Amino acid sequence: MPPPTASSADGASPPAWHALASEDVLQHLHTTARGLSTAEAQARLQRHGDNRLTDAPPVPLWQRLLRQLDNLLIWVLLAAAATTIAIGHAIDALVIVAVVVLNVTIGLIQEGKAERALAAIRNLLAPRAHVWRDGHLVEIDAAHLVPGDIVQAAAGDSLAADVRWLQVHELQVDEAALTGESVPADKHAEPVAAAALLGDRRSMGYAGTLVTRGQARGVVVATGMGTEMGRIGRMLQDVGDTTTPLVRQMAQMSRWITVAVLAAAALLFVFGWWVRDLPPLQTFMAAVGLAVAAIPEGLPAIMTITLAIGVQRMAQRRAIVRRLPAVETLGCVTVICSDKTGTLTRNEMTVQQVVLADGVVDVEGVGYAPSGALLRDNTPLQPAELWREAPALLALAEGAALCNDAELLQGEGGADDWRLSGDPTEGALLTLAMKAGLDPARLGEERPRVAVLPFESERRYMATAHQRSDAAHLDVWIKGAPERLLAMCSHELDAHGRPQPLRRAYWADQVEQQARHGRRVLAIAAATLAPERPLTHDAVARGGVLVGLVGIIDPPREEAKAAIAQCHAAGIRVKMITGDHVVTATAIAQQLGLGGHGPALSGHDIEALDDATLRQAVQSTDVFARAAPEHKLRLVRALQANGEVVAMTGDGVNDAPALKAADVGVAMGHKGTEAAKRAAAMVLADDHFATIAHAVEEGRTVYDNLRKVITFLLPINGGESVSLLVAVLFGLALPIAPVQILWVNMVSSIALAMVLAFEPTETDVMRRPPRRPDEPILSRFVLWRIGLVSALFAAGIFGVYRWALDAGHPADVAQTLAVNTLVAMEIFYLFSVRYLKAPSFTWTGVRGTPRVLAAIAAACGLQALFTYAPFMQSWFGSTALPLPLLAVCAGAGVAVLGVLELEKALLRAMR
Ligand code: ADP
Ligand code: MG
Repeated sequence: MPPPTASSADGASPPAWHALASEDVLQHLHTTARGLSTAEAQARLQRHGDNRLTDAPPVPLWQRLLRQLDNLLIWVLLAAAATTIAIGHAIDALVIVAVVVLNVTIGLIQEGKAERALAAIRNLLAPRAHVWRDGHLVEIDAAHLVPGDIVQAAAGDSLAADVRWLQVHELQVDEAALTGESVPADKHAEPVAAAALLGDRRSMGYAGTLVTRGQARGVVVATGMGTEMGRIGRMLQDVGDTTTPLVRQMAQMSRWITVAVLAAAALLFVFGWWVRDLPPLQTFMAAVGLAVAAIPEGLPAIMTITLAIGVQRMAQRRAIVRRLPAVETLGCVTVICSDKTGTLTRNEMTVQQVVLADGVVDVEGVGYAPSGALLRDNTPLQPAELWREAPALLALAEGAALCNDAELLQGEGGADDWRLSGDPTEGALLTLAMKAGLDPARLGEERPRVAVLPFESERRYMATAHQRSDAAHLDVWIKGAPERLLAMCSHELDAHGRPQPLRRAYWADQVEQQARHGRRVLAIAAATLAPERPLTHDAVARGGVLVGLVGIIDPPREEAKAAIAQCHAAGIRVKMITGDHVVTATAIAQQLGLGGHGPALSGHDIEALDDATLRQAVQSTDVFARAAPEHKLRLVRALQANGEVVAMTGDGVNDAPALKAADVGVAMGHKGTEAAKRAAAMVLADDHFATIAHAVEEGRTVYDNLRKVITFLLPINGGESVSLLVAVLFGLALPIAPVQILWVNMVSSIALAMVLAFEPTETDVMRRPPRRPDEPILSRFVLWRIGLVSALFAAGIFGVYRWALDAGHPADVAQTLAVNTLVAMEIFYLFSVRYLKAPSFTWTGVRGTPRVLAAIAAACGLQALFTYAPFMQSWFGSTALPLPLLAVCAGAGVAVLGVLELEKALLRAMR
C-alpha cells in the first residue's frame, strides 16, 4: 500500500469525505478506529507539518514607519524643519529631523515590544485536542494533530482540524465561524450527498467551529492550511481588542492637547511678531518650541508599553489576559464569584467513606494509588471475600468502575505514582474499585459499554449501559447527586445484595452526615434496560435500585484561603458558586473563611426569588450551592444591578453567557472548555483562585503605573510651556531653546518615564478599597499634583536661568544650566512619583530598583553628552558648564523632592 499523501494541502484534490462511508474514510487515510501509533503520528507530522494556520504576513517596515509618522506633531516638526531650511538654518533643521527619527525609532521599538508581549500570550492559549494514540486517549497540543488521527470531542470543545464523524451522541456544532449560520447544526456519522454544501455536511466537523452539545469520535481528514478554515484563509477569532478605554481616552486627550497647543502656538507667533514686534524667525522658533513643549508626545506610547508589561506580568503569574481592557477592569473588581471544585479546593479527590444499606465502610489511603484497606467496624475486609461478606459493596465498586470515563495509569515513580486521565471525581471512584479488588480495564472488557448519558452540570448524573454475556437485558449504572438518584430509585440493595424498598429517610440522613464533614457525596444506583430500548433520561427516570453512597474529600487549597483573606482586606467580596451539595459547600466555605454573611442559597432558592429579591439576597449570601450555569447568569446580573464590578469563573459550555456578561469573565485553563475560554476575558493557566487575586493585584498595579506615567510626564510639558509663555509674553529671551526642549522631551524624559512601566506593586495595593470604575484617571489629586509640579518646574527653569544671567554668565551657559536643571528636577521627581502618596524616603525608595538607577545613569550620561560633547554643543547650542554650576542643578532637584515630600506629609496628616 503506498503511503498516504492525499492531504488536501498537497494540491491533489481530496475525496469528498462527507459522502464516503466511514470505513472507506479510515481506509483512505490508512488508519483504524483505534487511532494511530505515536511513531506513525510523528512520521505524518513530518509530512504534513503542524496543524496551524499560517499567520498573516508581518506588516512591512515601511508601513509600520508610516503608522508612526501618522501623528500631527511629527508633521508640525517636519514642517518646521522645512521652514528652517528655507530660511537657511540647516543645523536647526537637521536637529529637528534627527529628533523626529529618534522618536520614530523609539516608537517602533516600543510597538514591537508590546506586540511581542501580546503574541507570547496568544501562544499560551494554544488549543488542545483529545486523541487516541497507541490505544490510549491522550491530550495533545492541537498543533500536532495529523490526518488519520482519531479524535474525541465533547460539548465545549472547539474543533482543531477537519474531521469526519465516526460515532456521535446528540452532537451539535456551532459553525457560525465558518458558515455564518447562527443555529448549531445537528451532526451524524452517516454519509451525505456528495453535492452537499459546507453547511449541510452533517457527517463532517470543521476546524474552528464549536461543539455545543453531545460528544463524538471522528477521524481527522485535514489539518492546518488544508482545512476549510485554512482554505478560505480566515484567521480564528483571537485575542480581542489591543487597546483599552483608558489608553483610548488618553490618546484622545493628546489629540485635543495637540490641536489646542497648535492654536496657542499660532496665537503666540502672531502676538510676538505684531504686538511685541519680535523678529519673525525667533518668534516662529518660539512657537514651534511651545508646540514641542506642551504636547505630551511620549505619553500614548508609554501607556501602551505599561499595559503590555502588565499583561506580561499577569501571564507570569499564570493569569492570561485575552482582552486587554480586562487589565483595567480587574483593578475595579468588587466581587469575585468562584467555582469551588479545583479552584478553591485541590480537586484531588479521595473516597473516604462508603455508605451501604447496613452501615458505613471506611476507606484508607489518600490520592489515586489503590493502596489502603476497606474497614467495617475497624476490621479490614478482604477483597477476595467481598462477594460473600459484602456483596453490596462489591456491586457499588463495579458500578463505580463501569460508570466512569477516567483512566488511571501507573507512572514510573514507584507503587504510589498513579496518574489520572479524566475527571478527578471519577478517578477517586476507580481507586475505590481497585481497593475493592477489581481491575477496571478487565471489567470494561467483560461488560462492554453500549451507551452513555454523559455527566452534565444541569442534570448532575451520568448513566451507562453495559452488555453481559449471561443476561439478555442491559445493565445500567447511574451515578450522581444523591437527591437526583433518590428521585430515580424505588428500591435499595440490602446487605445480602437483594433489592428492598427504598428507605428515603435513612439515605437522606446519611447524605447529610457525609456533607457535614465537607465531603462531596455521590450516589450509585443500578437499573436494567431491555436491549432494544435506547438509553435516555426518561428510560432511567424511575425504577432504579440504590446501591450506596460514597463520601469524597477534596481538601481546600491553602493558597485559596490566604487569597480570600487578601481579597477581603482589599475590599473585594468572594462568593462561592458550586454544583455541590448545600451542606458540603457550607462546610468547605467555613474552612476557607467564607460565608460569614448568611446562610447558603441553593439553585432552587434562586429560582424562587424574583429579580428584586435576588438583588438583596446576593448582598448577604456568599455561598451558592446546587447551582447550575443558568443561575450564574442571574447572579452576575443581580450583582451588577447593585453596582458591583463582577469577576466570574466558569469552565463549561453553559457558563459562556455568564462569562460574557461578567465584567471580567474568567475561564479555567485546564478543565475549562474552549467555549468558556472564548467567552472569557482572562484564562487561569492553573485554575487556582489565588491566581485571580494575583491578577487583581497586578491590575491595580498597572493602573497605578499608568497614573504615575501621566503624573510624571504632564508636569514636564506643563513646566516647559509655562516658562516659554512667560518669556514670550514679557518679551524676555527663551530660558530653553526649542531644540533643547525637543531633546528633553523626546530623549531624557522618555528614558526616565519608561521606568514607571516596570514599577513593582506598592505594598498597600491590596489593602485599599477597589477603585470606582468611573473615577477619572486625572482625579482632583492628580490634577493638583500636575499643577504643583508644573509650577515648581517653571520656577526652577526660570529661576536658575535668571540667576545665571544676573551672576554674569553668558546666555548659552544660562540656557544649558536651565536644561540640566530641568532634567535634574525630573530625576528627583521620578523618585517622588514612584510613590504617589507614600513617602519616598524609605530605604527601598531611595535605593530604587536597578532599573531606576540604570535609567538615571542613562539620563545623566545623555546630559553629559549634551553639555560637554562638541558635536552636541554645535547642534543644540549648549556649552560646557563649570562643575560648581552642576551643584545648582542638583540643588534645584533636591528642593523639588523636598517640597513634594512635605506636600505628601501634609496630605497624610490632613486625612
Ligand atoms: P462543582 O461546582 O463543585 O464543580 P459539579 O457541577 O462538578 O460541582 O458537580 C455537582 C454535583 O454533581 C456533585 O456534587 C456530584 O454529586 C455530581 N457529580 C460531579 N461529578 C460527577 C460525575 N463525573 N458523574 C456523576 N455525578 C457527578
Ligand atoms: Mg465542576
